Amino acid sequence: MTAYTETQIEQMKKDDMRYFLHPTSSIFDMESWGGPKIIEEGNGIRVKSVEGEIYIDCGAGLWLNNVGYGRTELAEVAKKQMEKLFYFQTFNGYSHPLAIEMAKKVAEMIPMDNPRIFFTSGGSESNDTAFKLARMYWYLQGKPNKNHIIARTKAYHGVSYGALSATSLPGFWDGFRPLVPAFQHIEHPHCYFCPWGKEQGSCNLECAEALEEKILELGQDNVAAFTAEPVIGTGGAIVPPKGYYQRIREICDKYDVLFIADEVITGFGRTGKMFGMLHWGVKPDIMMMAKGITSGYIPMGAVGISERVFTLIRNHGIFMHGYTYSAHPVACAVALKNIEIIERENLVANAHEKGKLLRSLIRDLDLPCIGEVRGLGLMNAVQLVQDTETRTMFNSALGIAKRVSAIAWENGLALRPLIDDGLQLSPPLIITEADIIELVDKLGRSIEQAQREFL
Ligand code: PLP
Repeated sequence: MTAYTETQIEQMKKDDMRYFLHPTSSIFDMESWGGPKIIEEGNGIRVKSVEGEIYIDCGAGLWLNNVGYGRTELAEVAKKQMEKLFYFQTFNGYSHPLAIEMAKKVAEMIPMDNPRIFFTSGGSESNDTAFKLARMYWYLQGKPNKNHIIARTKAYHGVSYGALSATSLPGFWDGFRPLVPAFQHIEHPHCYFCPWGKEQGSCNLECAEALEEKILELGQDNVAAFTAEPVIGTGGAIVPPKGYYQRIREICDKYDVLFIADEVITGFGRTGKMFGMLHWGVKPDIMMMAKGITSGYIPMGAVGISERVFTLIRNHGIFMHGYTYSAHPVACAVALKNIEIIERENLVANAHEKGKLLRSLIRDLDLPCIGEVRGLGLMNAVQLVQDTETRTMFNSALGIAKRVSAIAWENGLALRPLIDDGLQLSPPLIITEADIIELVDKLGRSIEQAQREFL
């Protein structure tokens, strides 16, 4: 049952198109559909549209919903905190009990030595904070020219100007230049489409060596930091080869460059470990978090700052940076409860197990246009290709991933096409075996139908 009549739904769609500018949405597509897809309710891993149709959320919102929809526990702690102290600033030397508890909790969880925690409202703010910390770290050592930040192609770090300058995906820079100076990019690692034409296991990790080359090109005295998503997210759920991050850490240490890990998606369990860098046993100097920190129930982000970086800020006496909503008490209350649920329900182990099952069932579909099924835990993508032998992509103008996602919607899946014909498979971490079987069945039928149109 839906709470809306057809006339009300029509009106809502008209009002949406009239008043609402959507983030990163094709207005032409929305017009051709007669308005947006309007979701009004969520339960577990499923959402319901205003028309009353149910969809499996294959993307966990935007990679953020770890504990699933409809958690009344989270609503209750938010209500209680709003009534008690909905807000007080943490600028000017003020604090509140939940900010302190949350900072301690995160500091004890993340794979960093004796870190301090800075709070933000989301991923872009966490990225900007990290880049400012990196530049300030060298500035405070009398090296203001050591300010270049090296990121990678296919990176997504957000859309505020600092984060956008580290991002490198088609379309995001158009119309917004000039970007922040002194951001550089090296080739991202992706064995399936290796730009060096090598095969995994028999290469020299050219993708990691590219960092050394870039540092030498820029001059080590000009490079502040290297930043990377442990597993590339929006760029396509791309997992680096074995040894990549260990080599990256070595290169950063050799040239005295900070290593910054953007764990905005990978943090809090999504990849089958609590944090992405735990897969490689590598500790970053600065770490960004958001999304899974509250499962998206309320906006929040955080930055982990290693003792090495913090010591300089501490001696300087002030970090002249902050957001009104840094350490918002309601966000802290929700985050603490969300982390408690992730730990109590062993959702990290479930992400690991169900991710393996998901990838193996998709591989078993054995469809001619499924090239690579890749991912870690519940951060996955299916790569569609025209020819699996030669790994040739479809003509991008055809938009096969977009077509699969449109068919999948008819089949009850909210499935997002990623760039370069990837399909995002990152459901909430509570997903069961039966849910995975249903999801893969619907996905398989959707890909098969599109395949008939494209091959
Ligand atoms: N970093 C990564 C790895 C992300 O995936 C995202 C968002 O998808 C961001 C940063 C930006 O986060 P936000 O949209 O909360 O600003």
